[in-house]
Amino acid sequence: MTIQEVAIIKELLNTPKKIVIIPHKNPDGDALGSTLALNLLLKSKGHDSCVISPNEFPDFLKWIPGANDIIKYDYQENIARVKITEADIIFTLDFNNLDRVDNMKPLLQKVTAPFVMIDHHELPDNYAVVTFSDTSMSSTCEMVYRFIDYLEETESLTAEIATCLYTGIMTDTGSFRYPSTTAQTHEVVSKLIEKGANNAQIHNNIYDTSSETRLHLLGKALENLRILPEYNTAYITLSRQELEQHDFKKGDTEGFVNYGLSVSGIKFALIFIENTGDDGNYVKISLRSKGDFDVNVFSRNHFNGGGHKNAAGGRSNLSLPETVTYLENILADYKTQLEK
Ligand code: 5GP
Ligand code: MN
Repeated sequence: MTIQEVAIIKELLNTPKKIVIIPHKNPDGDALGSTLALNLLLKSKGHDSCVISPNEFPDFLKWIPGANDIIKYDYQENIARVKITEADIIFTLDFNNLDRVDNMKPLLQKVTAPFVMIDHHELPDNYAVVTFSDTSMSSTCEMVYRFIDYLEETESLTAEIATCLYTGIMTDTGSFRYPSTTAQTHEVVSKLIEKGANNAQIHNNIYDTSSETRLHLLGKALENLRILPEYNTAYITLSRQELEQHDFKKGDTEGFVNYGLSVSGIKFALIFIENTGDDGNYVKISLRSKGDFDVNVFSRNHFNGGGHKNAAGGRSNLSLPETVTYLENILADYKTQLEK
């Protein structure tokens, strides 16, 4: 952030304000950790602040401090509308275009309150008075730590806030292994542990709380893994029937896509998951890559999505088999990029 932007934020937060903080739809560890951390900090400074999520999030994230107080727009729309309409400031975290909040978009386009964006995805839209956007950052949680530092408020970091921020940095960096993890990321993480984030407990809460049916679903996903050696690509499919047979719950497929990338030589991995929700028939897609192959661009071009260079999401309105055929057809155009 520039000195001017820091000054704008300090001015905005100078007196107690009504504040709404919004993560993207289907919030992940980084979206929840960052919004909940900022919410706790702003409340401790006397603001009337809340987090409104477009929809529900998986059980394995529900232990994050403050998660139970999150308002969910899809089934608490009335209270959410009042909060958003009356807000003096709206923070949007871990996304950068209003399509990512789904049904909340029309309301957000109408409100007059100033927006502040904190985000690390590519190509931010221009809807905020302050756009704190940095695609080199490991996570929005790392950015929220820096944001708090810019405001000279690191003394206000509690163990709960540190726990929220540690969670998002850990999940978005694949437990500190992706290239986005820098020396500065580790410096921030070190401070968070000093402030009371219990790293071993957080790892346990996120990674070691699977149900038996989730592991059996993982078994099915691995059985369905296909390798396309000529494109150094791997993909996994999960049909609605397979999901239902394994008692699928929201969040159960988190991380499955990464198994494709763990195959020697694979540079591009995808997972295609038939939607089981009541919001239509479509295939939800996660895309991951290693090195220069840009899945943000690939998803924008072919799957109505986006994200980061090495991790993106998208969707297809074709059937599951048609989506796979579509992928196999378009890959020919990327052969030279994927051979490198
Ligand atoms: P995931 O595959 O875990 O859902 O998402 C991977 C990354 O891409 C995350 O950073 C997520 O926020 C982003 N992402 C997922 N779906 C979309 C999408 O439809 N549009 C955009 N712009 N980003 C997405
Ligand atoms: Mn993120």
